[in-house]
Amino acid sequence: MSPAPQMPAGALPVGAVTLSPRRLAVYPGSFDPPHNGHLDIIQRCLSVFDEVLIAVLVNEEKKPLFTIEERQEMFHEILGGDSRVRVESFSGLLVDFMDRVDAVPIVRGLRALSDFDYEFQMALMNRRLNPRVETLFMMPKEEYSYLSSRLAKEAFSLGGNISGLVPPQVLARLHEKMPNRGGA
Ligand code: ADP
Repeated sequence: MSPAPQMPAGALPVGAVTLSPRRLAVYPGSFDPPHNGHLDIIQRCLSVFDEVLIAVLVNEEKKPLFTIEERQEMFHEILGGDSRVRVESFSGLLVDFMDRVDAVPIVRGLRALSDFDYEFQMALMNRRLNPRVETLFMMPKEEYSYLSSRLAKEAFSLGGNISGLVPPQVLARLHEKMPNRGGA
């Protein structure tokens, strides 16, 4: 009888793989509304993590165009078929939410150097508040590197054609909110 194959050092036996913790990333933001830059980051997360939890921030001070429920519904409409993606809302400290969902990585998108200063401060503050949490940054496709929810809404409200920058489900919702405005 031939000897049992040797496992390389550090390898897990096949059965143990199912016991390893699921790799869950939290992607927080206002998402008012979601756009293709956000979706690009979510797809990138899914190539690295097993599951992505989109955490929609409740912050009425920002005077959002879409309610929290509408923003969650839009994500369900766009990504509902993907069991690796969940959507929840949260208020208060993100690091407390990270404890509640038992996740380590916060993923943030970095568009341009202009995002860096704010994101750097936020990441270090979050680390100070909860050293268990890590912040990771991902860069979107170049074509989305200037895109923000604010600019998409502004362009739409002035009659601009923003198809290609937001998914059709979001475009339809914008038409409902601002009838006779968008260019497409
Ligand atoms: P905020 O969290 O500042 O309200 P958003 O909700 O628009 O902003 O963004 C949520 C996350 O998505 C943040 O990490 C932000 O940097 C990232 N993001 C926003 N727009 C883009 C984009 N065009 N490409 C990649 N990431 C983006």
